[in-house]
Amino acid sequence: MSDQRILTASAAVQDAISTLDVDLVGIAALSDLRGSRLAEMALRLLPEARSIVVLSMEVYPEIIGLARPGRVTGEASLNDLIDRNTDFLYGRLTKAAYDVARFSHRQGFRALPLPAAGCPSDGRFLEAVFSYKHAGQAAGLGYIGQSSLLVTPDFGPRVRLACCLTEALLEPQKKTSSAELCQGCDICIQNCPSHALSQPQGQEPYAINKFACSAFRNASGGCFECMRLCPVGRK
Ligand code: SF4
Ligand code: SF4
Repeated sequence: MSDQRILTASAAVQDAISTLDVDLVGIAALSDLRGSRLAEMALRLLPEARSIVVLSMEVYPEIIGLARPGRVTGEASLNDLIDRNTDFLYGRLTKAAYDVARFSHRQGFRALPLPAAGCPSDGRFLEAVFSYKHAGQAAGLGYIGQSSLLVTPDFGPRVRLACCLTEALLEPQKKTSSAELCQGCDICIQNCPSHALSQPQGQEPYAINKFACSAFRNASGGCFECMRLCPVGRK
């Protein structure tokens, strides 16, 4: 494909992406991420990838507001409402990821849709083969806060994500700065029922014991406290 053809076809993909029926769309250029862990993960999945498209939808605060950690075995839990809601959002987001792949294929580009339910993860380290939240940050959707969640300006961390890697050369989105978002209020750290969150010490903006969080969520029928209580994006 000639350079001019790549630009023209990529512009057609970008136009089509703007018609998607999701709440947020972010785009990162692989050329801006050279040498990063995120680029390494993306190129392992699709060596021809030039862009990462990240799609997001809001989990409504009315639903998250009902969630509480801890449940008695056998008790009805309103946390289950979130799972039903999330199933719907996952379906919409996964369709959008496939739409981006379809737009790309029509223009002669390779593309790999990554479903909203998430990539396979290495159970030894609870690490996915591709990090949607790091992709969301690179694509300008928000900033990873002390909760370890992607915090978006409009919805805080109350979002779900899907991605599509594409060979199309898309215009990247301006990144959101940390100063605009997580202000380090510590609400997520202080209210984490498993004490999985602590003050970040190193390069990462968060410190989480993923095993403590995961074990607590499994044992208690789900936990959304860090998502529910974050003040960013509250209407
Ligand atoms: S609760 Fe406060 S510290 Fe935690 S992610 Fe939200 S803004 Fe940042
Ligand atoms: S989901 Fe619950 S247990 Fe896990 S980090 Fe958030 S508040 Fe803590």
